[in-house]
This record gives sequence, C-alpha cells and structure tokens, in this order.
Amino acid sequence: MRKHIVAGNWKMNNDLAQSELLITNLLRQNKTSDAEVMIAPTFTNLKQAFESLKDNTIEVIAQNMHFAENGAYTGEISAAMLKSVGVKTVILGHSERRAYFNETDATLAKKVDAALANDMRIIFCFGEELQDRKSDNHEAVVEGQIKNALFHLEADAFKDIVLAYEPVWAIGTGETASPEQAQDMHAFIRKTLADKYGSAVADSVSILYGGSVKPANAKEIFGKPDVDGGLIGGAALNAEDFFAIVNAF
Ligand code: 13P
Repeated sequence: MRKHIVAGNWKMNNDLAQSELLITNLLRQNKTSDAEVMIAPTFTNLKQAFESLKDNTIEVIAQNMHFAENGAYTGEISAAMLKSVGVKTVILGHSERRAYFNETDATLAKKVDAALANDMRIIFCFGEELQDRKSDNHEAVVEGQIKNALFHLEADAFKDIVLAYEPVWAIGTGETASPEQAQDMHAFIRKTLADKYGSAVADSVSILYGGSVKPANAKEIFGKPDVDGGLIGGAALNAEDFFAIVNAF
C-alpha cells in the first residue's frame, strides 16, 4: 500500500520563538491515523526543530535547496548543509518558487538530481494556473512539468520521490479543487508515470494534494483513491487544525 503523508509547509512564517511554540502545540496533539507527518519550517528554524522533535515521529523537512554542493551562490543553501542539520527530505518546485524566484523545469531537474545524489527524499510540486484550467490545458501543463523535471530519471529513483499536485489557483485562496478534480488529476498523473515507468512504479508513488486543505474538506479529498495525502499551507500553522487534517485519514 502507498504511504499516506501529510506535510505542513510553513512557508516564510514563524520566527524561532513562534516555531518553538507551534512545535510545543504539535507535541500535544494525538495522532490517530497512519499518515506520515512532516513539517517544513524555514531554514533558520530547522536545527531547533530537530532538537525539539528528536523523540517524535514528526519529520522535519526543508522547503527548498540549491543544486550546487557549495560555492558562490550568495543566500543559497545546499543539500549537504541541510543534511548536516539532519534534513532528509526537501520540497522542490513549489509554485511560489517557480513564480517569484524564476525556478524553471530545467533548474528543478538539476535540484532533483542534487537531492537524489545526496540520498535525500523529494516532495516534488507542480500544478497549473487558473488560465490553464480555464483553457482546458491543465493536464498538458502538469504533464510537461513532470516530464521536464523528472523523466530523465531511472525508475528506481521514484522510491525517493513523492509528488504534490498543487493547482496554483487553489493555493492560499480558500478555493480548493473539488475532490473529483483532485482525483481526476491524480489519476492522470499516475497514468503519465505508468506510461513511462510501468504500473508498478506508478502505483508505488504517493501523490499529495495541496491547495486550501482544511479540517473541513480533508476527509473528502483524502477519501479519493489516488490522493495519498496533503501538502498543507495555512492550516499547518495551527496545531489543532493540522492534526485534524493528519487524522482525516
Ligand atoms: P494553502 O494550504 O495555504 O492553500 O497552501 C498550500 C501550499 O502551497 C502548500 O505547499
């Protein structure tokens, strides 16, 4: 069976004290589901988050990294640096990185290679914009994003890759894809993988949905057969809400 995963992407929220407070509140919650739980604090809070969660199964992950091992890339963070504080999983390709920091499919392919070369697990994000959906281009856009950044990989690499479908129009807008829209796209993504790598690989990859997931809609979205979890933004900043989503499985 595929892994269920619920990951909280804190984005550029929470200073060190706020991060500690949220983690304290997370540690008070009861997990009743089988989902793997991850949180992605900002870089400056990672080390402290690891220390605070060292006896807990919540995994601390990173929101981004650079593709180079080191060098003249002012302001950037490498895989080796993340590993040195304990990070084993990194989010790559978030739509905010693509939109505001000019991350292209080609850059992302390099980041994917760097993460895998460093034995890291990847949550690889992609998703269409509103105009793509309105023009009925959403499947072609998503297919292109996946192929351009991932299809140079061998099948074996997918044991370390989780996919996250995040339609840009549903991020932070309060507007979610309907459970049916999410299921249709997730099934399309799985078929795209199966056509290239075979159904054994396609059936083993967890595909998360992201975009305005809340306690009120999580159960219905997670109830769809090809939805294996969620990447949660706003609702991950509140411990009760986040665990209500985790426990929606
Ligand atoms: P929201 O849950 O705030 O819509 O954000 C989703 C997201 O971008 C998670 O990476």
